[in-house]
Amino acid sequence: MPGIKELKGTLSASLREGLLSHAVLIEGEKGTGRKELALWLAKAILCKGENPPCMNCAVCRKIESGNHPDVEIYGGEGTARSFHIESIREIKNSLWLAPNESEQRIYILLNAENMTAEAQNALLKSLEEPPAHARFILTCDNRRSLLDTIISRSTVYTLEPPTREECASALMEEFGELSEKEAEIFSIAFGGNFGAAKKAFSEGESEIVFLAAKTPEILRKGESYTLAAKLSSLCKTRAELSEFLERLLNITGRCGIDRAAGKNTPVRVTPIEAVKTSEIIERGKTAVLQNCSLELIESWLCMELSGVFGGNL
Ligand SMILES: [Zn+2]
Repeated sequence: MPGIKELKGTLSASLREGLLSHAVLIEGEKGTGRKELALWLAKAILCKGENPPCMNCAVCRKIESGNHPDVEIYGGEGTARSFHIESIREIKNSLWLAPNESEQRIYILLNAENMTAEAQNALLKSLEEPPAHARFILTCDNRRSLLDTIISRSTVYTLEPPTREECASALMEEFGELSEKEAEIFSIAFGGNFGAAKKAFSEGESEIVFLAAKTPEILRKGESYTLAAKLSSLCKTRAELSEFLERLLNITGRCGIDRAAGKNTPVRVTPIEAVKTSEIIERGKTAVLQNCSLELIESWLCMELSGVFGGNL
């Protein structure tokens, strides 16, 4: 199963042999590193250093900061059909012009699944007969959202999501302050989705994750008041409480399954506790969406979860 490391190896080799297609489509779920790989490939194509991309030369640095005049980025954030034909028209305006300072022009089209059918059809003509100096790098979550004719003119590379272990070690590499156990908890809390875990950690949501991981233990000690106090200080908005519930669901669910399979888990949860917790969380999520007060939901939650983990009130 190729992850980002393996695909970098494959793409480097094709580039060295002069076999890289002028249109590359990187397919992968959110969080697998599609954009990172697209930018990496643009650097690898234009870099003048040794072992491209060297990440250090002026070319690599300009691409990293989004300032390279021969690398144009379109799409990205947005919803279905938010990627319009106007962007393709812009591409066509510069497509046949000579590159500014490199030998090639690179067009990166992020989240191509958001392209309207009109935009895809317009792009097709450029993909069919591009000038020799042009390269296209598209990313998408699933190739089925693109026209067959676009896929057939591109070489598709599929990024597989990292395993939980890969996600945990990537987190430790990225955030030196995380211990092995914390990285494992983070990875489980986000279902192995490195992008989501990284975002949550950088945005200071780690306390919510760690509270979710400690919840079973706190309640086993009969300290539901501790949980209630921490919840009310960490989860002051509906979004924060939902976040707590999602992480608790992932952690108890995964640890319950792993424990049933006889594996070691960073949080002690029995399969039956996992099932009961998931039922409570589903009711909690419904309550969060309704007009109940957060305080009320939080104390209800502590009481219900205490019942699962054997604490006494
Ligand atoms: Zn470089």
